[in-house]
Amino acid sequence: MKLVPREHWTDWSHWLIWHGRRRCYARKPDCSNCEVFQLCPSGKIFLRTGQAKKPDAKVA
Ligand code: SF4
Repeated sequence: MKLVPREHWTDWSHWLIWHGRRRCYARKPDCSNCEVFQLCPSGKIFLRTGQAKKPDAKVA
């Protein structure tokens, strides 16, 4: 809500859903081709480890 102007909130939620369906798959996100990779800490972890983890989660 702080980052996206109010007039784009509805579109933004649709864009996030679309991004999840077309790029950021739950089990195997396509981080190497992701349009927001530079903004995403999870993508860097996924590419390094091959595992989708939260940034604060320990990697085995
Ligand atoms: S970089 Fe982030 S947003 Fe993009 S596909 Fe990977 S986990 Fe998803």
